[in-house]
Amino acid sequence: MTPPRASFLPFALPDVGDEEAREVTEVLRSGWVTTGPKVREFEQQFAAYVGARHAVAVNSCTAALHLALEAIGLGPGDRVVTTPYTFAATAEVIRYFQATPVFVDVEPTTLNLDPARLDAAMAGAKAVIPVHVAGEPCRLAEIQAIAARHGAKVIEDAAHALPTRLGGRLIGALSDVTCFSFYATKSMTTGEGGMLCTDDDAVADRCRIMSLHGISRDAWKRYMADGSWYYEIVAPGYKYNLTDLAAALGVVQLRKVDAMWARRRDIARRYHDAFAGLAELERPHFDPAHQHAWHLYMLRLHLDRLGLDRAAFVTELKRRNIGASVHFIPLHLHPYYRETYGYRPEDFPVAWREYQREVSLPIYSRMTDADVDDVIAAVTAIVAEHRR
Ligand SMILES: *Cc1c(COP(=O)(O)O)cnc(C)c1O
Repeated sequence: MTPPRASFLPFALPDVGDEEAREVTEVLRSGWVTTGPKVREFEQQFAAYVGARHAVAVNSCTAALHLALEAIGLGPGDRVVTTPYTFAATAEVIRYFQATPVFVDVEPTTLNLDPARLDAAMAGAKAVIPVHVAGEPCRLAEIQAIAARHGAKVIEDAAHALPTRLGGRLIGALSDVTCFSFYATKSMTTGEGGMLCTDDDAVADRCRIMSLHGISRDAWKRYMADGSWYYEIVAPGYKYNLTDLAAALGVVQLRKVDAMWARRRDIARRYHDAFAGLAELERPHFDPAHQHAWHLYMLRLHLDRLGLDRAAFVTELKRRNIGASVHFIPLHLHPYYRETYGYRPEDFPVAWREYQREVSLPIYSRMTDADVDDVIAAVTAIVAEHRR
């Protein structure tokens, strides 16, 4: 075995520095740490960036998805179509309403929801939640056309899709609602955080109100010197507001979002070139007509050409001090969905098959060229040692 790198390379690290520290310190010193002017500034800048009429800052993408479904009036027994090839959040929010998640299998190339299978599943559905897996855009126009035929809303889980472009247009203002994540590992971070974008005034209003106890005024307006003590509860809302502390991180991260993306794209190119000659690996698919956000670099193993399985591949990377991950364990394989809906693995055969051979490599802007070289060397060595 080639000698491993001296220190462990984490799978993901946030790209935060002095600028973020300064902005957060300023908010601390201002005396206003919860939802206030910094959140408004962040929302305005984010809305302008993606080209949406409204951006509502919340404390997670999960919260944004929940609020979006509440705003469209989801209720018990309703159906919402989504993909099994995603994180827990995408489907759990449907269960919050005692509604039914209806899974549709994915395309083997992009691992995004397969529009060819969508129409049949949409009967009676209130909404569809597509995911842009890894940051490669789903086939949104087809999904929107099918949803429209069924009178259903499209709510994008864009947790991986900042900044993804479909043709020339940034994801964020293309559907009824688009939800972003600022979790620690995502393409920009506020520690924890999310953003709900929409062009619909009524949806934006409802989400804003429900994000803070169903109260019809913002806290800072209530308590500022010129504010009023009076408020009204219009519905039993939630506690999903983002803090000014987090928003301070957000405004700096948003300024860096394109530079961080450019670095990830360069890393993706280097991986892509380095792995081109390895018949044991399938590199991620992307359409050059769009902009991949490169939130993840998802390799797939040709297991028939290798003498080790995916789990062993991840272990071998770790032995070489390289962090890796797997995206995703399809939702229908998890005990909750299996037991509640009686799913078997083969019910969504593409998701099941592709999951078994997927490995995600580190791809984040803080990686140095030497880090990238170490990942390439480790992957290449593992393939060389285990090819058959
Ligand atoms: C991270 C992630 C989420 C959840 O984001 P949070 O901000 O942690 O709530 C939702 N969907 C997908 C696909 C994700 O990867």
